[in-house]
Amino acid sequence: MKILIADDDPTSRLIADMAVRNLGHECQSVADGTQAWDAFRANDPDVVISDWMMPGQTGLQLCRNIRDQKSGSYTYFIMVTSNGELGQMAEGMSAGADDYLVKPLNHEDLQGRLISAARVTAMHEKLAHEQVELRGLNTELAAIARRDPLTGLANRRALQEDLEVLEARVTRYGHRYCMAVLDVDHFKAYNDSCGHQAGDQILKTIAGTLSNQVRTGDSVYRYGGEEFLCIFPEQSLATGTQAVERMRIGLEQLAIPHPGSPSGVLTLSAGLAMLQPDDIRSASEVLEEADVALYRAKHLGRNRVEYGISEAT
Ligand code: GH3
Ligand code: MG
Ligand code: MG
Repeated sequence: MKILIADDDPTSRLIADMAVRNLGHECQSVADGTQAWDAFRANDPDVVISDWMMPGQTGLQLCRNIRDQKSGSYTYFIMVTSNGELGQMAEGMSAGADDYLVKPLNHEDLQGRLISAARVTAMHEKLAHEQVELRGLNTELAAIARRDPLTGLANRRALQEDLEVLEARVTRYGHRYCMAVLDVDHFKAYNDSCGHQAGDQILKTIAGTLSNQVRTGDSVYRYGGEEFLCIFPEQSLATGTQAVERMRIGLEQLAIPHPGSPSGVLTLSAGLAMLQPDDIRSASEVLEEADVALYRAKHLGRNRVEYGISEAT
């Protein structure tokens, strides 16, 4: 272990230094509290063996300062005291000392304390390592919770979180955005004729097609079973419509055979709505408008993109 010894008495310091080195530890010795604090900050020792009474900073102050440090690894603190100061030991332990030794230092006592120090610091190290692992796992879990397992797209939960961020940005900076809901045409018939597994494959293909068409900053979500949702920040209705048209055409051009569709290939319909900077509607109201537009696209024959009535007029 890396051990720091702080003692203003040269004899005690030398005895402790030799004993610590004999036990196979790395050792640095300083003669007062100020040097001890500097050495502690520079070298981050595993153990500090500190005299109680020292110039510059007492062992008690040193211990409090070390415990006040919010970051870094755990430091095992052993307070060294003379017999006359033993009554104050409770104060030292309350200040954060882990253990104490009474002068004159005894080799066996010191050895015993350092065995205990090694055990405690190893435990703290393990704990710190596990906390890092746990934080990593939590980050992974949070990412998994936002993904749709079938398509790998962001899911509805992610949409909810992102919409909150989007709404806050709109309120604060007056941003605008377009929202589109896309729905596969006659998908039930596709499942019925080609099977559910083939349907799943199609959903993956569509997810890939939509993802390929969006630009950086745009987002695609799997909104429901065979429904997808796109958000285009800062896009006008015209450019948003162009983007969704690219998606619609992209899927149509794949020419995936669909026995139950009048066109013979798999297509999708989409509804779009836009939020203007001075608009005070909520994201769910914009979404509702996009849904109405989607319904109209279906009603008008499918494989088409329609946009919200309020913008159309
Ligand atoms: P429309 O053109 O009006 O949208 O017709 P549709 O048949 O696509 O719409 P409907 O809402 O009647 O049916 C949706 C179908 O989507 C029904 C359901 O079996 C299918 N579906 C939903 N989620 C999944 C999924 O995860 N995998 C597969 N294979 N099918 C799904
Ligand atoms: Mg649907
Ligand atoms: Mg559908």
